[in-house]
Amino acid sequence: MHEYSIVGALIEQVAREADARGARVHRLHVAIGELAGVDVELLRTAYDTFRPATVCADAELDVRAVAADWRCPGCGRSFRRGMRLQCSDCGRPARLAGGDEIVLERIELEVPEMEAPHVH
Ligand SMILES: [Zn+2]
Repeated sequence: MHEYSIVGALIEQVAREADARGARVHRLHVAIGELAGVDVELLRTAYDTFRPATVCADAELDVRAVAADWRCPGCGRSFRRGMRLQCSDCGRPARLAGGDEIVLERIELEVPEMEAPHVH
């Protein structure tokens, strides 16, 4: 399934970052465009299925939904939802400038050396 391969790739990417720093993963921030063809609920289910045996076992998944952003390649004008996707000034067809992405935006890591020393 599509969402499962996305999660697999995300966790691999996170594992490389975390291993390089010897860090624990606290939280992932992922941006998903509304036109990315990703079912966010399914993505969360896939994540929960995958994570127990990975560096992400204790990491929360934070998903930010990104709205489709159609723009005119001529004048840069943006199109609102429901508008005809052709510029009324230039006559050019709108081009998708955002909203089809799947991006790992940020990983919150906990580096062990940074932890406060235990007080006895
Ligand atoms: Zn235009």
